[in-house]
This record gives sequence, C-alpha cells and structure tokens, in this order.
Amino acid sequence: MLSPAQQESLRALPQVEDLLHAPDIEALASCMPRTALVEAVREAIAHARTKVVDGSASEVDLQAIEHDACVRARILNRPSLRRVINASGVIIHTNLGRSVLAPQAAQAAYEVARSYSTLEYDTATQARGSRHNHCETLLCTLTGAEAAIAVNNNAAAVLMVLSEFAAGREAIVSRGELVEIGGSFRVPDIMALSQACMVEVGTTNKTHVEDYRHAIKHDTSMLLKVHPSNFRMMGFTESVDVRALRKLADQENARRQVAAPDASPERVDDLLVYEDQGSGVLLSLDTFGAQSEPTVADSIQQGCDLVSFSGDKLLGGPQAGIIVGTAHHIARLKKNPLARALRLDKMTLAALEATLRLYLDDERAVREIPTLRMVSEPADAVRERAEDMARSLTTALPRDCVRLSVVEEIARAGGGSLPMCDIPTWVVHVSFLRGDVLGCERFLVSERNVPIVGRIKKDALLFDARTVLDGEGDEITAAMAAYFQKGTT
Ligand SMILES: *Cc1c(COP(=O)(O)O)cnc(C)c1O
Repeated sequence: MLSPAQQESLRALPQVEDLLHAPDIEALASCMPRTALVEAVREAIAHARTKVVDGSASEVDLQAIEHDACVRARILNRPSLRRVINASGVIIHTNLGRSVLAPQAAQAAYEVARSYSTLEYDTATQARGSRHNHCETLLCTLTGAEAAIAVNNNAAAVLMVLSEFAAGREAIVSRGELVEIGGSFRVPDIMALSQACMVEVGTTNKTHVEDYRHAIKHDTSMLLKVHPSNFRMMGFTESVDVRALRKLADQENARRQVAAPDASPERVDDLLVYEDQGSGVLLSLDTFGAQSEPTVADSIQQGCDLVSFSGDKLLGGPQAGIIVGTAHHIARLKKNPLARALRLDKMTLAALEATLRLYLDDERAVREIPTLRMVSEPADAVRERAEDMARSLTTALPRDCVRLSVVEEIARAGGGSLPMCDIPTWVVHVSFLRGDVLGCERFLVSERNVPIVGRIKKDALLFDARTVLDGEGDEITAAMAAYFQKGTT
C-alpha cells in the first residue's frame, strides 16, 4: 500500500507532454528524432515513479527528472558502435575492434562505399570480373604463394579448407595444437562442423614426426598444423615443423601415386600440409625488436600446400581470413559454395588491398600501418608521448586531485599474437587524491560518447601511450578535467 505522502508524490510526477516542453529537452529536439526524446522522457518519469514507490525518494525533483531525461536521450541517440580511445596498451584488442586501419585503407573503403566500383567488373575485357582478383596478386607477391583467396575471417578460412579437403576423411593434428582461441574458436569444434574426422597424435607437450607417420592411412586428407596463438608451453616440449610434415606428405603421396598411377596430380586424395597460422605475419618482425614469429612466406617456402591467417591481427588490416597456397588447391576453394557464403564485401576488400599495397615497401608498412607501428615503436618514443600527456594533464587538472607520474610498464600485442613478447612501454600513472579510480573509470567508459579505456593497477589508472593515437592525448586530458569538474568527493 502506498502512503498518502507517496500518493501525493506520484500526483506530482510530470506528464510526458509537459516534460517534452521543458527548455533543456526542447533544446535537444533539433538534434535528435522525437521518438528518442519521447522514449527518454518516458523512461525518466518511470524511473522517478519507481523511486517513489520503493521509497528511495520521498519527493519528486522536477529538475532531476529533466536532467535524467536529457542524459537518457543522449544515450539513446548515440551510435552503439562507435570510436573508442584505447589506452590499455593491448595493441590488437579484440573487444575494441582489433587493428586500426592505415589511413590509405580507411580511404579506400570510404571511396568504394560512396560510389560504384570495379568489385566484379574487369575493365580490361569490359566483362564480368571476380572479386577474388583484387588482392590475389598482391598476396602472391608478399607470400611467395601461387594463388590466394580472402574470406570473412580466419575461422571461416579454416572451416572452408577443412570442408573442401577433409570432409568425411581424416585430418591429423597434434594434441599440443588443439587450442581454443579467444572468442570461441576451438579446433575440435571447427573440425566437427566441417565433418572432418579429427585424428589426434602425440601428447599435450610432445609430438614427434613418428606420431604423424603412424597415423597416416591410405586416404588421410591432411596434416594440419595450428599456431597455438595465445598459448605457450614451456619446458619439456616438442612439435614437428612444416619441413618435416612436407617430407612425410611427399613420401605418402609418392606411395599413393604408385598405388594409383593413372590419377592426375590434382586428384582428390592427395595428403596435404595445411597450417592455420593465425596472426598473419607478412614481414619479419625481429628486425623491429618484437620476438620473432615465422612469416607466411616462411611457411609456404617450407612446404605448406595451404596457409591461412587473419587480416586484422598482426597484418593490421580489416577483418578477413586469407588463404594462400598452390594454384590447384586455391582453385578448388574458389569453387566451393562456402566461398560464396563467406565472401568479403567491397569495403573490406578495398581496405585489405590498400593495406597489402603498403607492404610492398617494408618501411612504409611499418610507418603507415598502425598495428605494425605500435608493435615496433621504440620505447623511448613512447616515453616521450607519455611525458607529453602527463604534462598536459598537470596543466589541465585542478591542484591536489591526482598524483601523476610516467612509469615503465609492459604492453601486449594481444589478439593471440606474440604471446611471449613483453613489449616495453611507458604509461601515465594516475593515483587519486580526490575521486577514486573506479568512479573515474566508470565516467571515462560509460558516460562519454567516445569511451576511454585505460588499465587499472592497484589503486591507479594507467594510460598506455603505446596504443594512444595522434590527438587522443588531448581528449584524455579534457575527459579527466571533466571528471574532476563534475564534482567528485
Ligand atoms: C585468431 C585465430 C583464428 C581465428 O581467426 P579470426 O580471424 O578471429 O576468425 C584461428 N586460428 C588461429 C591460429 C588464430 O590465431
């Protein structure tokens, strides 16, 4: 039962129509649709009603309801998918969209989005072309492979390769490589989905070439090698490299040739070597100080028939799954109905082509592709940017509200790439004399149109300069100033 005072308060709640005419709400009407405003006003009134009914508010504060409606209207009206400032120090942050595109790649996507394009039009023959051609030559040049195809993501690439070559047949994989990769990609699950019959060999920590050899049967489809990505085993471990798998496959294929001398070289039952490489390293990163990872070209050169990798991990492009390899294997993939179901759209293709084009010049790639730049930027340069940020924060923030310092920390490649690589970095370390770290984090992430994602360590908020882009330092400063202006206790 409501008390008489509560009934009184409920009668004092404003009507939707009245609140819509409040000055602050009317001011918003010019910049957002009326439906959003009405919804926000309704929500604000309902919220106030709940507070009266559950006894948490004894009086109706019209001003507060109006303010609440404005906040709700702004939240309803802002895009759900929007820009974020990544000050976390995780470079390929899957939750934050993995790689940031190079300006050339973003521009290319913008142009094909804003106009008609040569997506499936061959201007040389004035006839129908194929969307698969735009990136293929570049991918071949950059990896040494004969042919290539790009699909929606690497999970799709793996599914397509397994479906085409291993469905209904056995595929051999080491127990040390049966990994789960962030975001629910599990090798055994994708095997099951493609109807490949998974044959596990070796043990968790050690797999020998003999383990593969003993598992090969007359119609085994492939030797699958999976990059363990976000996972490393230390100590008493052993795995079999691509060269050794190639040798095994060649011996087996020679035997099959003898057993069926009339079959063509492209016959269906070849034993092939396929590596799911994950990160997609196109240039040797050890020259830039990052812990070395084999490149895609290394895998091809060492004898893989097919290699697949993501477009938006270390490659630094848009979301895509790229498969490179021998011409006849890729030709079969292009004919698989999954190639149609999993194909890339024009904006992604444009961004991928532009990103790959930058790789034609190593130095240019490292300069222009943000992921490569962030992975390889010398710690001293990061330190300078952190010091700039700390200086502008010192100037902008009220006295005695924080203690600022610039300290050395560890950044991460993220996205399952270079998991053992501690990337030395510098952060602005903020400890709070006023307000508090969790309240500040909530403000920076939840209340802003452009959320700022830092890192919390003990009671301090860290802004890692390695992943902060040009100009974003100023936004961080302004947001921090707004936090302290808002009134903190
Ligand atoms: C990341 C990764 C995948 C999944 O790639 P997506 O592009 O995220 O679909 C598959 N295999 C390996 C080894 C990976 O590292």
